[in-house]
Amino acid sequence: MNTQDYIKREDKYGAHNYHPLPVVLERGEGPFVWDVEGKRYFDFLSAYSAVNQGHCHPKIIEALTSQAKILTLTSRAFYSAALGEYEEYITKYFGYDKILPMNSGAEGDETALKLCRKWAYKKKGIKENQAKIICCEGNFHGRTITVITMSTDPDSTNDFGPFTPGFVKIPYNDLKALENALKDPDVAGFLVEPIQGEAGVFVPDEGYLKKAYEMCKAKNVLFIADEVQTGIARTGKLLACDHEGVRPDILILGKALSGGVLPISCVLADDDIMLTIKPGEHGSTFGGNPLACKVGIAALEVVKNEKLAENAERLGNIFREEISAIKSDMISLVRGKGLLNAVVIKPKGGKTAWDVCLAMKDKGLIAKPTHEHIIRFAPPLVITEPQIREAIGIIKEAFKLFE
Ligand code: PLP
Repeated sequence: MNTQDYIKREDKYGAHNYHPLPVVLERGEGPFVWDVEGKRYFDFLSAYSAVNQGHCHPKIIEALTSQAKILTLTSRAFYSAALGEYEEYITKYFGYDKILPMNSGAEGDETALKLCRKWAYKKKGIKENQAKIICCEGNFHGRTITVITMSTDPDSTNDFGPFTPGFVKIPYNDLKALENALKDPDVAGFLVEPIQGEAGVFVPDEGYLKKAYEMCKAKNVLFIADEVQTGIARTGKLLACDHEGVRPDILILGKALSGGVLPISCVLADDDIMLTIKPGEHGSTFGGNPLACKVGIAALEVVKNEKLAENAERLGNIFREEISAIKSDMISLVRGKGLLNAVVIKPKGGKTAWDVCLAMKDKGLIAKPTHEHIIRFAPPLVITEPQIREAIGIIKEAFKLFE
């Protein structure tokens, strides 16, 4: 079978809910992936920042395969030897009292919303069914009905209603709007991405998160950070909130929590919040399974041992400096933090971000447009300086084709 045969088969038997770049991948190692024709690419999407530790990291794969031979799933109806070890490890790693393990990022967000509502009724004293959660325009928190209720992207919401009540949408990076929304005594939480990834890597003004956190504290409102995409070293610190010294009341993690090996997500919080949820009130068959626990520990060890946050910080600076220096009238802006970056594309002569991505693919680097005119560049954080310089060379060559 060749590339076209694989693509045709997916088109025929799979739902058409994605629009992939025409490349068929079959193998990955570190920052590289190979297609079915044997061609190598730099992976500059990293599965939407899930593969921070690089493809098939040997330590994570070793944890996966050795645990897979012993015990994969118990459900939470019983204790498991692996769960407590993971819970102790990850809570100490991020500095919280408790973890609630789930699977996908969207489930992590759903869990945080439920936890926030429970806290609102049990601790804050909001009247039944009145709790509100503030969210931001341009957000991306996943694809479930409640999560898309918060979305302002018509592609996410059109023809999927009716939606879930209890949300207040305000502009992102707007403290005045937050101040106004916080006047409502029924507000229980503020859910925010420290950088809006899917929206096109929108970095808020310096001080926004810190000030927003302080404003929430003053109103006894929980500051909930969705670090599913920005967390786990991607932006040059362990958490993007660390750039401003903010410790969220509820922290949502996913994606790189497994290094891209399994769908693992979680919510972290302290006892006064987390213990408001009682047995039987929330859960998931696969959440906290032994395989996920062992993989999660290994994935987080790799982040620390290989200093991935420091690498992301250093190479991110090089990346932005080099890409900003490209002289192309198709580039209108370069922005980002660490190795979560984006280039805003100005279409030229009918050529768009999609065409730039096709050109980069032909030259051996894959990335994907988000919202048509923005290309996100997010390689695995194990990429080395010579490798990122080679990748930058490819990007430069691709832009030259449009001169
Ligand atoms: N939250 C953020 C900030 C995300 O970027 C994403 C996915 O891109 C999600 C949540 C949803 O994660 P998942 O696709 O694993 O449900």
